[in-house]
Amino acid sequence: MSGSADGREVLLRAQQVEQFYDRRIRILGPLDLDVHDGEFLTLVGPSGCGKSTLLRIVAGLLEPTAGSIEIGGVPLVGVNRDAAMVFQSFALFPWMSVVENVALGLEARGMPPLERLKRAEKYIDLVGLSGYERAFPKELSRGMKQLVGLARALALEPELLCMDEPFSALDVLTARAMRDLVLDLWQSPAVKTKSILLVTHSIEEAVALSDRVVVLRANPGRIAEVVDLTGLARPRRPGSAEVSEVVDRMYGLLA
Ligand code: ADP
Ligand code: MG
Repeated sequence: MSGSADGREVLLRAQQVEQFYDRRIRILGPLDLDVHDGEFLTLVGPSGCGKSTLLRIVAGLLEPTAGSIEIGGVPLVGVNRDAAMVFQSFALFPWMSVVENVALGLEARGMPPLERLKRAEKYIDLVGLSGYERAFPKELSRGMKQLVGLARALALEPELLCMDEPFSALDVLTARAMRDLVLDLWQSPAVKTKSILLVTHSIEEAVALSDRVVVLRANPGRIAEVVDLTGLARPRRPGSAEVSEVVDRMYGLLA
């Protein structure tokens, strides 16, 4: 791993990444992006600017038309096993219980049954869903479903947690509670994962949570600016002078 400007190691490096549709229409890049070890990094930008595309490329779910992804200096080929994804749409299996949904990825990685049950229960407890292990997705609220999605991703103990607009399908209060939870878990010694890559279209959300914010512009998706917020103390009160100043500056970048 090589160093970065904030003194942290580079966990993942995207170099000259480009994505075309139909070989002719450029939707993304070329762009360079580093994810630092231990940071909360957020991609923010208007709808259609390529945030989900970039996240899928980082997770190895989509091969870029050009450019490369390196993890710890090693080029990514196929699915990124150091990353796990939380989807806006939850993507739970309706015929499986909560604990089965959370343990599924562990089974795919060859973990023995007892160990994966223990691991799944640990993360179900950490997201606050103890007692719902045997419940099925249809019995859960949207917020609880997203908690299952979060537990499932964290249970893999990935180096990098990728989240694609994870709070967008939730009501305002549930979304706020979940943002707080994600921050708590990111800072908790009980959670192995230390780096987060979040995608959102909400500037306020990006400023509330992140160490650094990558502001993207559309057509094609390009980096307008990387804003360093490591100096902005947490908890960040929405509407406070410091927070408002940064939020206004970011709206200016996108205008
Ligand atoms: P965002 O997540 O920022 O809203 P996306 O990454 O989903 O943006 O999409 C970026 C652009 O790529 C959009 O303009 C979208 O219309 C286009 N796009 C994505 N997938 C396809 C596809 N399969 N075919 C054609 N265009 C696509
Ligand atoms: Mg998207």
